[in-house]
Amino acid sequence: MSGVTLHNAIKKYGETQVIHGIDLEIEHGEFCVFVGPSGCGKSTLLRMVAGLEETSGGTIHIGDRDVTHAEPSDRGVAMVFQTYALYPHMSVEENMGFGLKMNGVPKAEIKEKVARASAILQLDDYLKRKPKALSGGQRQRVAIGRAIVRGPDVFLFDEPLSNLDAELRVDMRVEIARLHNEIGATMIYVTHDQVEAMTLADKIVVLRAGRIEQVGSPISLYNDPDNKFVAGFIGSPAMNFLRGVVTHGKLSVPALGSELLDAPVTLPPNGTEVFVGLRPQILSTTAAPDSPITLDIREHLGGVSYDYLTTPTKERIVVETRGGDETPEKTGLSLQFDTSDMILFDAKSEARIR
Ligand code: ADP
Repeated sequence: MSGVTLHNAIKKYGETQVIHGIDLEIEHGEFCVFVGPSGCGKSTLLRMVAGLEETSGGTIHIGDRDVTHAEPSDRGVAMVFQTYALYPHMSVEENMGFGLKMNGVPKAEIKEKVARASAILQLDDYLKRKPKALSGGQRQRVAIGRAIVRGPDVFLFDEPLSNLDAELRVDMRVEIARLHNEIGATMIYVTHDQVEAMTLADKIVVLRAGRIEQVGSPISLYNDPDNKFVAGFIGSPAMNFLRGVVTHGKLSVPALGSELLDAPVTLPPNGTEVFVGLRPQILSTTAAPDSPITLDIREHLGGVSYDYLTTPTKERIVVETRGGDETPEKTGLSLQFDTSDMILFDAKSEARIR
């Protein structure tokens, strides 16, 4: 069994601490995605698991082996980078088999392993080509193939799709998901793209400034975020946040007019400032000539449309609608939603009010 366990993992560069005591359990066979904004420490954490960065404190286990200070080659991991790092003078076949060749694995065995990886990744027609004669997506498949032939316990992916154009990214995302289904190995995948995280992960780890904000399945993070950061990061378009204040045991939300709203949870004391979180998917608009909410732009995506609204308090709101082929009203709109779908956050701590 080869899950990965981090206990109080710390990384310092000189005096600067960038990873602040991460505790995390990744099960054997799990697809775990580290996600967060640029600079939050996700690559550093992955490289610590790989052994490419020294761990300054705490421990890392792969299966039941303590690998905290083990050499990368002794950890049973294989890494796939954003830059494919292929040898330009070697064919696809040679690139994929090179690691095994260096380890003295017999030729016949290398051939068999390369053939198996090539079949999984549909590279059979390209085995004799050099990397320069391949598209970006094919090169990334070769890089993944090279990882597969090594038969690692754990696959580590560092933003592997960032260099590909949008369409290819979607294709490769599906291929990586298929690969995981097929070989069932433990995989850790770093991305700043929450759509990749949502679509690939069994478990998402949301990082910010070297700390874990929340760990959970994609759906649990989407439906049940612990704080405003996670709520705003997971989900597309992002969750809307309106300022509000607890008044007479209800919610006053100036953007929506003077009516007090019933809250779906026990509210903190009167006067507490809050953010009211509203997913674009739970909102709709109706014409209400007296309402000062206006529509700035409607984006058509085919099956759905996004309406970009401005409230009288100058807060912006995105509403997702189905269809949307009729000409929309531009002014005098009122926002409709079920108050039980509101998600509330304390304005100061940004923690969820449950
Ligand atoms: P991410 O992958 O989330 O974009 P990184 O893991 O690359 O973030 O970086 C995390 C933090 O560590 C950043 O603030 C970055 O500036 C810092 N960092 C990364 N490498 C070094 C280094 N060699 N020396 C000092 N700071 C570094």
